[in-house]
Amino acid sequence: MNYALRQRKLMGVLSEERCDAMVVTHPANIAYLCGFTGSAGVLVAQLPRWILYTDGRYTEQARQQVKGPRVSIVKGAPLAAAGLSLGKSAAAVRIAIEADHLTVAGRAALGGQLPKRVRLRATSGLVESLRMIKEPEEIERIRAAVLAGSALLDRAIAVIRPGASEISVAAELEYAARQAGADGMSFDTIVAAGARSALPHGRASQEPIPGNGFVVMDFGVILGGYCSDMTRTVHVGPPGAEMCAVYDAVLEAQLAGLDAICAGVEVGKVDQAARQVLRRAGLARFFTHSTGHGVGLEIHEPPRLARGGADILQAGMVVTVEPGVYIPGKGGVRIEDMAVVGEQGAEILTPSSKNLITV
Ligand code: ZN
Ligand code: ZN
Repeated sequence: MNYALRQRKLMGVLSEERCDAMVVTHPANIAYLCGFTGSAGVLVAQLPRWILYTDGRYTEQARQQVKGPRVSIVKGAPLAAAGLSLGKSAAAVRIAIEADHLTVAGRAALGGQLPKRVRLRATSGLVESLRMIKEPEEIERIRAAVLAGSALLDRAIAVIRPGASEISVAAELEYAARQAGADGMSFDTIVAAGARSALPHGRASQEPIPGNGFVVMDFGVILGGYCSDMTRTVHVGPPGAEMCAVYDAVLEAQLAGLDAICAGVEVGKVDQAARQVLRRAGLARFFTHSTGHGVGLEIHEPPRLARGGADILQAGMVVTVEPGVYIPGKGGVRIEDMAVVGEQGAEILTPSSKNLITV
């Protein structure tokens, strides 16, 4: 991980924004910039030397992890300590804060320590925009997380049967993830069976799996700090012609989305490619979310592959492609892979088969 380069890039961004310093409070952004993964920390990006403020619980961890910044262990709130120190620095006049992450109370705690001449500037996505394009080592970690995630699918399918609860399937999957060395799950595992499969975010419930219908499984692991994300849909019992047609349409849409991925392409074009297939199949009104999102240190990162999105895909971005169709009362299908954006197209990371499996 090239922390020095990331830190230089952020200083470049700050000077473009005409800011003298930045107070970074979002844990994933702190981890990205200096390697620190503790839950309490404030990173002040300011020359000549950055400072990471944290508390006594993290003395040893910070010593081991932090690459670049000086570490300051404080007794009170790290944010107040950061404010106090910035207030004494004559060079800090315009200070960037993370509008998407700093709470109102946090802003007050920081601002309360600063003299009047200092202005806090609300910014959005400065570090996230750096994180969008992954370094080769990050892509290797993501690849490992995706492989570990895919390996869980068979374990989950093995316990799917009519009458078993959705939670029991999620439990099997999550237990297998831990056995495989995962730090944790990237998000609450989704197992949604029968009519519940029409809920795009149907977290696993106590409901029993019906004797006939789809089961949507959307899950991911965190491995080496990086997230994976995949969805497969299987069918319990023999699927009727209508449900087979829905599955085929979603699969075709997913392949069309992956096909559309290439460096230089607008994200909205990927969404459009997937959506068009479903429109032709008369199913577009049941596709109620966007086609994909970036993945990395966090499960949802920029870019968003949404309808009309104008952001341009760049080589090294890692995104999902996950169209779905959700028919109320009947059921739903979603298929999701992760892919690396390349100059010639997408490299699909998720190796699991996408043929419809009947349990
Ligand atoms: Zn997912
Ligand atoms: Zn996803």
